[in-house]
Amino acid sequence: MRIPTALADFVALIFPRTCLACVEPLARGEDHICTGCRARLPYTDYHKLPEKENPLARRFWGKLPVRHALSYLRFLRHGRVQHLLHQLKYQGQRDVGLVLGRWYGAELTSHGLAADFDLIVPVPLHRTKLARRGFNQSDTFAEGLALGLAVPWSAHVLRRTEHTASQTRKNRTERWLNVATVFEVADPAAILGRRILLVDDVLTTGATLEACAAVLLAAGCRDVSIATIACAEH
Ligand SMILES: [Zn+2]
Repeated sequence: MRIPTALADFVALIFPRTCLACVEPLARGEDHICTGCRARLPYTDYHKLPEKENPLARRFWGKLPVRHALSYLRFLRHGRVQHLLHQLKYQGQRDVGLVLGRWYGAELTSHGLAADFDLIVPVPLHRTKLARRGFNQSDTFAEGLALGLAVPWSAHVLRRTEHTASQTRKNRTERWLNVATVFEVADPAAILGRRILLVDDVLTTGATLEACAAVLLAAGCRDVSIATIACAEH
């Protein structure tokens, strides 16, 4: 049933929907993020660059082969992107991952990239953390991307076997050692010979994505690409 416009306006007056990035009230027809924020988000546009000029791709050179290295946004502290990620991770706003995934998936599709992926695989949380948080923020991005790219996703391919300490205060080597052995492929048949798009919310050093990509490649997938909501410059 269509809610009459006058009633929708009345409901919006009492329960104003606000932009997930700037917290200003949304106008009618705006979808979770206001038009102003959508126009001003710091998009990387890495998918428009030749692979050799993609700074994110360069970060994996000499470590492991990554077919496409993609990130929707640049991570900037104290800005809209940090606010969006905070909403997603700590305020239970799954829509952040869903909406950004959908928009990014549509953008990648319009650049012909959808045909390069068979399955979208989110970086898993350990079950203890999943139980505490209620959902995996990377799943929401994977689900949004799946809609935008028209490619299936699965949360059951990878498993995190250990509960790792926070990465925040660790340097690059420590982060790598912290995650190097904690992921395993739970369903090798699902990835055999397939082109995997591995996704996470934020890329800082890339150690987590590297560890996941390494086990996916070892288990026999054809190639691995990566995509995150945001990546920190380094
Ligand atoms: Zn806004």
